[in-house]
Amino acid sequence: MNFKNVTVAGSGVLGYQIAFQTAFHGFKVSVYDINDEVLGKAKAKFFELCECYKRDLNATQDQLDNTFNNLSYHSNLAEAVKDADLVIEAVPEDPAIKRDFYEKLSQVAPEKTIFATNTSTLLPSEFAEVTGRPAKFLALHFANMIWVNNMAEIMGHASTDLSVFNQLVEFSKAIGMLPLPIYKEQSGHLLNSMLVPFLISALDLWINEVSDPQTVDKAWMKSFGSPKGPFAILDIIGINTVYNVAKLHADTNPLMARLMNRLQTEFIEPGHLGMPTGQGFYSYPNPNYESKTFLQ
Ligand code: NAD
Repeated sequence: MNFKNVTVAGSGVLGYQIAFQTAFHGFKVSVYDINDEVLGKAKAKFFELCECYKRDLNATQDQLDNTFNNLSYHSNLAEAVKDADLVIEAVPEDPAIKRDFYEKLSQVAPEKTIFATNTSTLLPSEFAEVTGRPAKFLALHFANMIWVNNMAEIMGHASTDLSVFNQLVEFSKAIGMLPLPIYKEQSGHLLNSMLVPFLISALDLWINEVSDPQTVDKAWMKSFGSPKGPFAILDIIGINTVYNVAKLHADTNPLMARLMNRLQTEFIEPGHLGMPTGQGFYSYPNPNYESKTFLQ
């Protein structure tokens, strides 16, 4: 792996974190977004991230100054990618937006550039042709709060070149990630392939009144020494996201229809959207699953 210049396309929730983490580890990073106003917002969020890096990683002022020196901002795609060894795409999770982005990118990126998508739910094979370079295209999936949840799922599609895949494994390590190589295209990668059925099983126990959320969490936490159970995890994901997924499947899945209705009246209407709003299945800060007595 001989990368020096990385372009991160899209500076939203995940993009600005990927850009900062990559620059923090010494790569030159071009941040690309649709206009200067959005880029200004990303810049402001980088200053907020500094506090997290100091608190969670003991980052020094020198390291943070170097990080800022490694970052540049672009609203012109050709300029943003002109020297790129790698483009990490973190534009919205909308197939039409992604397709349009890759069409434009394929026309202006140098031949050497590898393209990686951070998509959570779509498959790289969906976009392989439109990138114009299927062998140099794959998924590189990060988690929210990348600096502490530092893992990267690396997943090619059937025509991804093995050496490109291996370079991305090395790159992930170079930016402080635990690399998680995936050898076969899989919707949901590794983590969500396990997490989503687990969370649905927990919600099923609650909706069918088999038990209550705290008892379900206790069963999980006590058995595995886990710091969180499924309902604590749902609070972190956000009840609105859970509601939106339930709504999407409500027409065809009776459990999802009942879940949607219950979330609507008990959580959405009163504004209890989970950890960000201070109330979900637990109250924040200091949810009682963190108290010493919770498992006694
Ligand atoms: P977001 O909506 O917060 O940010 C998207 C950014 O892309 C915005 O800044 C927007 O201005 C920009 N954008 C829109 N059109 C663009 C274009 N044509 N070219 C360049 N930039 C454009 O989205 P997000 O939550 O950061 O998600 C981005 C990707 O990351 C998605 O594929 C998503 O599945 C994935 N992801 C998200 C999370 C998460 O927790 N949010 C976690 C892992 C992966």
